Amino acid sequence: MARKSLGDLFLHDLSDIYSAEKQLTRALARLSRAASNEELSKAFETHLHETEGQIERIDKVVEVCGLRLKRMKCAAMEGLIEEGQEMIDEMGKGPVLDAGLVGAAQKVEHYEIAAYGTLCAIGKLLGRDEAVRLLSETLEEEKATDLKLSKFAQTVGNPQAQEA
Ligand code: FE
Ligand code: FE
Ligand code: FE
Repeated sequence: MARKSLGDLFLHDLSDIYSAEKQLTRALARLSRAASNEELSKAFETHLHETEGQIERIDKVVEVCGLRLKRMKCAAMEGLIEEGQEMIDEMGKGPVLDAGLVGAAQKVEHYEIAAYGTLCAIGKLLGRDEAVRLLSETLEEEKATDLKLSKFAQTVGNPQAQEA
């Protein structure tokens, strides 16, 4: 197999996270509907809107770098979403499902944090400064979402689930 360049890896990873974000827009709407707690449901909805913006940011990165995304499906995101869906199917609505949904969503955020962190690092090496600026904005949104979910679980979600 032909040896690939760092630029090829950047394009591969960018195409992969693009697929992940696209899959997530559908999944976050389902998570929002499945959550009983209003604050949690709203948090999923807010992140759905952010995710739409993140997809637009990837479009901008593609434009400024003069790339064409590869058509591919992020298998990891497909699996993480499937696990979340299994939980929704197997558990009745309520605080315990909510606690499970927080965990499922945090697994997604951690995947994204790793993906955008890698893209920023590679982008820096390639001198793609504008792309790195855009991608780090998204990276910060993913980190903030992860933190918000942790805080919700610690202060509201888990105590409610324990009482249920
Ligand atoms: Fe995202
Ligand atoms: Fe992936
Ligand atoms: Fe996210």
